[in-house]
Amino acid sequence: MSRIGFGSDIHRLVSGRPLIIGGVQIDSDLGAHGHSDADVLLHAVTDALLGALAQGDIGTHFPPSDERWRNAESVVFLRFAAGLMKEAGYTVANLDSTVHLEKPKLRPFIDEIRHQLADALEVETTRISVKAKTGEGVDAVGKSEAIRADCVILLAEKK
Ligand code: MG
Repeated sequence: MSRIGFGSDIHRLVSGRPLIIGGVQIDSDLGAHGHSDADVLLHAVTDALLGALAQGDIGTHFPPSDERWRNAESVVFLRFAAGLMKEAGYTVANLDSTVHLEKPKLRPFIDEIRHQLADALEVETTRISVKAKTGEGVDAVGKSEAIRADCVILLAEKK
């Protein structure tokens, strides 16, 4: 059997915070506001994975009210979800994602981000797709007020 999951996340952009996307620090005037390291892509991927497993969402397992997760590296959340996946006997068939950000352009960072996701999920990078889009000057992304990420993931039973 295969299982599919979808995840989505948004964070406000503010000055004085780092911008971390898929575990990669991006040079930017604005960073993502949030309780953890506010890595919008890792949050969307973690939610997609938990969704595929029907195991709630990131807030179920890591409530923002819990001081332990203040400034936490979000790869901890993804590795936890990957552990649940392994326990359930699944592996990642493939993953597709989009990061919505007005600037900077993410193209130079895409392969490193794919590598980081593949590493956390313990699969080949060829199974991981990361795309980037701007907001074309409209909505919160286009006005550089927010960064958003969407992810779909397909799990396959491990033989
Ligand atoms: Mg988030």
